[in-house]
Amino acid sequence: MSDQIPQTTEQHQIEALKQAVRSQFDEISQYKMANANLREELEASYKDVINRDAEINKLRLSQNLPNLTQLSKIVHKANAKWWQDIDTGEPLKRNKGECLSLIHSEVSEALEGERKSLMDDKLPQYPMAPVEIIDTIIRCLDYLAGFHPDVDVQEVFDAKMAYNATSEDHTHEARKIARGKQF
Ligand SMILES: [Mg+2]
Repeated sequence: MSDQIPQTTEQHQIEALKQAVRSQFDEISQYKMANANLREELEASYKDVINRDAEINKLRLSQNLPNLTQLSKIVHKANAKWWQDIDTGEPLKRNKGECLSLIHSEVSEALEGERKSLMDDKLPQYPMAPVEIIDTIIRCLDYLAGFHPDVDVQEVFDAKMAYNATSEDHTHEARKIARGKQF
């Protein structure tokens, strides 16, 4: 025979509420566990990126290939004429906004190339879009060496790649939720 005291309606309601709270706690702890697993996966992929970057850096050094910092200086040197006064040859103080707009313009040219499936007019052996993307990269590297000569471009690149690999709003899961990044 049960020694439990028969419960009133109120006690039933309290029990039901307690049960609901308990199951919510269960749900939260399941969510926390899933999150911890996701975090572990992200950390593993972060380590993969770091290791891969270290490998690429080693390869780059062993083959004497320039890293992005050196490449930006090389591009800047090749573009030196754009940083000089056309009459006097004296160094020119360039406008950051204008230079950033010129980067936009290269991306817009790439868009036109893709929209109309054009071949490049200056290098007709290549499609226009890749050539314009390269123009974009050249302008970006020139900008970095011209306006931020003390910044280690390769270091920033490596840091941003590692960050992107672990950034939660870049995961497929986060992108599926409402207002997640769609592209
Ligand atoms: Mg162009």
